[in-house]
Amino acid sequence: MIDLTELTIKQAHEGLKNGDFTSVDLTKAYLKKIKDTDKELNAFLSVAEESALEDAKKADEKIKSGNFGELCGIPCAIKDAILVEGQKCTGASKILENYVAPYNASVIKKLKDAGAVILGKTNLDEFAMGGSGENSAFGPTKNPHDTTRVAGGSSSGSGTAVAANQACYALGSDTGGSIRMPSSNCGVVGLKPTYGAVSRYGLIPYGSSLDQIGPIAKTVEDIKIIFKAISGKDEMDATSTNYNFEDSQTSLKGLKIGVPKEYFVKGLDPEVEKIIKDAIKKAESAGAEIKEISLPNAEFALACYYIIAPSEASANLARFDGIRYGLSENGKDLLDVYLKSKGHGFGAEVKRRIIIGTYVLSSGYYDAYYKKAQEVRKLIQQDFADAFSKVDLIFAPVSPVPAIKIGEKTDDPLANYLMDIYTISVNLAGLPGLSLPAGKVGKLPVGLQIIGNHFQENKILAIASQLEKLLT
Ligand code: GLN
Repeated sequence: MIDLTELTIKQAHEGLKNGDFTSVDLTKAYLKKIKDTDKELNAFLSVAEESALEDAKKADEKIKSGNFGELCGIPCAIKDAILVEGQKCTGASKILENYVAPYNASVIKKLKDAGAVILGKTNLDEFAMGGSGENSAFGPTKNPHDTTRVAGGSSSGSGTAVAANQACYALGSDTGGSIRMPSSNCGVVGLKPTYGAVSRYGLIPYGSSLDQIGPIAKTVEDIKIIFKAISGKDEMDATSTNYNFEDSQTSLKGLKIGVPKEYFVKGLDPEVEKIIKDAIKKAESAGAEIKEISLPNAEFALACYYIIAPSEASANLARFDGIRYGLSENGKDLLDVYLKSKGHGFGAEVKRRIIIGTYVLSSGYYDAYYKKAQEVRKLIQQDFADAFSKVDLIFAPVSPVPAIKIGEKTDDPLANYLMDIYTISVNLAGLPGLSLPAGKVGKLPVGLQIIGNHFQENKILAIASQLEKLLT
């Protein structure tokens, strides 16, 4: 008997179509897997057993009627920063510990319309602030390949859930790498779409000019199925774009691949470097033309991101004041209520970001920091625009190192920020980027990052699916 939880979306869809099993069978298999493994992995913050089985029953009826799409009846997991009506949405923060979502995010509405089964909500760094998954108020997510190591963040639970067969696929969000980082660390595929390709309505905002929701799955083909379902214009998000995904026939043969010289420098683990360079060689053997490119402002990306993201975060998180949402502590006056609610509700990293954000936005420093960072952001965008006038796609590492040990860098926020070196510029420029499993260091997976120009997810996916066969 096959283990149903090992199937891809495509395979599960075929099985449902042929009547080999039902969506209820599939859902029960995943719920059991979660029960058996999640005490150790801590990928889920809540499991919605009852409503998942209801979703599955509804899906089975649709399937019987013969009119159903590829996501119908397939169980998935959702990062706990995306609202699912009637279910808790904590953002992995104490301040929202008991908050129940009053409506569905637009991506959830789309998935539900497609007949998806939602198994539960996955762990993350508090309010998506972090790259390791250790900043959750509810404990770190473990990496299924080595449970002494992090899953990568911030969508840590979504990465682990897919890698450990606790869900067929998952949604995450990516502000500076949070879909690509856990996908790389956990050995699954993750796509950070172009800014505006997917509606952000119903995502707890972190850095609104950087945030994007995207899929994590086992194969490139599955990513494509999910991306098609969740992308497109949404009138609830003014930054969403009318985007019609069309398959691309782009082939590795004749493809111009840019490799940024600034990315292969000190700090990149030699074993990770080897895996990325081997992947580039394989692409070359398949007919691609490899070109060294330069992203001259790459060295300023971290400083730029860690001014802009905290600025936006400090504004976005002002809503958690002990009055409007979640945790509310008693105080002798209004200020005391604010101080106590925020003081007890937010974790250390979130407080750090709010303090940095309010500092750089304050009247005396706005020009020196925030305005400067916006100017640098423009230069980073221009670097990519220049690069894409010469090449079709850019290949890069996702992370400079494989998954780190739990606790290894928790006392050193700066060391954590440095891990984002290869992912954040993509968000600053609003570009799409995908992490594709490319090899392993010992038992730890390493992802190759494929970056495309705006709205060229189809090109990225076409090339990733050709490479997928060459790299595994
Ligand atoms: N690690 C980055 C940060 O801490 C990115 C997080 C994300 O993409 N949500 O901000």
